[in-house]
This record gives sequence, structure tokens and C-alpha cells, in this order.
Amino acid sequence: MLTGKTAVVTGAARGIGKEIALTLAKNGATVIVNYNGSKERAEAVVLEIKAAGGEAEAMQCNVADFEASEKMVQDVLSKYKKVDILVNNAGITKDNLIMRMTEEDYDAVLDTNLKGAFNMIRHLSRNFIKLRGGKIVNISSVSGVMGNAGQSNYSASKAGLIGLTKSVARELASRNVCVNAVAPGFIATEMTEVLSEEVQKKIKEMIPLGKMGSPKDVAELVLFLAGSRSDYITGQVMHVDGGMVM
Ligand code: NAP
Repeated sequence: MLTGKTAVVTGAARGIGKEIALTLAKNGATVIVNYNGSKERAEAVVLEIKAAGGEAEAMQCNVADFEASEKMVQDVLSKYKKVDILVNNAGITKDNLIMRMTEEDYDAVLDTNLKGAFNMIRHLSRNFIKLRGGKIVNISSVSGVMGNAGQSNYSASKAGLIGLTKSVARELASRNVCVNAVAPGFIATEMTEVLSEEVQKKIKEMIPLGKMGSPKDVAELVLFLAGSRSDYITGQVMHVDGGMVM
């Protein structure tokens, strides 16, 4: 159980982040539901958590913005005193073949997916060191492990997250802080529903278990990594992808 723990989940207004927020709250954590543009949906997540007897608050910030993310962290710490669990889930895609990819689309994806996680970890690192404990979970992707045509920016950001995870895991291990990455395969969310039926069919053919995953599949693994049952696990990349990487 996560009773007494405070968790920050970035990009928690919908999809995988929302399911992670609901799952951590259901297990007793007070959850900061971070969002960027989806205010109403973030507030709906908070209401859903409260209706189930949990504690939550929505907080806006663009995680790619160093100062804005620092301000959100300060607000969280002044109100809740400590953060025990950080889940870096916020992410975007801007797919294109490398020869057509614009500099803007490359930078936007790296800024949100990789620098966003750096910003949050950087601003919360003092908190975790003082706590002498805590859990950081970074949501990477199968694309960051295997690569994916049309996703050079996204794959680079998600592979970068794995390097970030391992380095921070080594830095914070002596303070008993565990830092792990979760690499989902293809999960049915708004991010993947934009893919054509033909692409979705091809994807399913690549998945040994033969189907896309659900946000719940990812949230259950994050719950495990956020709780005490994973206290001796750090610096790992855990795959939740129906067997794509094995
Ligand atoms: P999604 O439905 O598109 O949701 C992404 C969330 O990220 C949105 O709620 C969005 O917030 C938030 N976000 C984007 N940019 C942000 C920023 N700058 N600051 C704060 N929040 C920001 O995506 P999803 O499928 O749930 O994916 C969640 C994570 O899992 C992502 O990191 C993604 O790369 C990863 N992942 C997904 C899959 C998949 O198949 N779906 C597979 C592997 C990895 P607003 O709506 O408030 O703007």
C-alpha cells in the first residue's frame, strides 16, 4: 500500500498517465495529476479519485519548461512537504521519415519526452536525497529499445530516457532511491488510435501475444515499481509489450 506517500504523475489527464494516477491513488497515494493543456480532463481525473475515496490535485505545467517545472515542484513541496514517487509519463510523438523531419519536430519531441523527465528529476533530486528513499519511474518505449521507422525523434528521446534512468539510478542508489524505466509496446490510447487500421494490423502481427496492451497493463507495473515490493530493483528497463522485446 502507498498510504502516506505523495506521487507526482506527469501527463496524467488521459491515457496511460491517467490510469497510473488512478491506480496509485486507489492504493493509497496522494496523487498530483499534472497536465499541460487538458485542464478539464485532469480535473475529471481528480474528481474520479476523490469519488473513490482518494486524494488528488491537478497541477498545470509544461514539463519541457525548466522554470515552469521548477515552480510546480516548489508548489507541490510547499503543500505536501515531500514527494515519494515521481512518474515521468508526459510524452508526445511527431512522426516522420528522417529526410522529412523538421528541426522543430525533432526538438519538440526531445524537449517534452527527455528534457521534461530531466527537469522533473533535477528539481526533485534534493527532495529524494533528503528523504533517503523514493521511487522514480520513467515511461520509455519499445521504440527506444528496438527503434521504429518514422520515429527517429521519438526513439532517440525514449532511448535517452533509458540512459538517464541508469545514470540517475547509480547517482541516487546510495540514498536508497530506486530509478527504473518502463518500456511499453503498443498500448491502446489516443496516441495510438491515430494510426491507420493497416498500420495497427501490421503492429499486431509483430506482437507475440497478438494484441495491443491496455493502460492498465502499464499501470500495474508502475504500481509495483512505485511500492515497497520492488525495493531491491533499480536501474532496470522493464518491458510491458506482449513479448515484442525478448
Ligand atoms: P497520450 O494519450 O497522448 O497522453 C499523453 C499525455 O502527455 C497527455 O495527457 C498530455 O497532456 C501529456 N503531455 C504532453 N506534453 C506535455 C508537456 N509538455 N507537459 C506536461 N504534459 C504533457 O499518450 P499515452 O499513450 O497515454 O502515452 C503516455 C506515455 O507513454 C508517453 O510518454 C508515451 O510516449 C508512452 N508510451 C506510449 C505507448 C502507446 O502505445 N500508447 C507506447 C510506449 C510508450 P495534455 O493533454 O494536458 O496536454
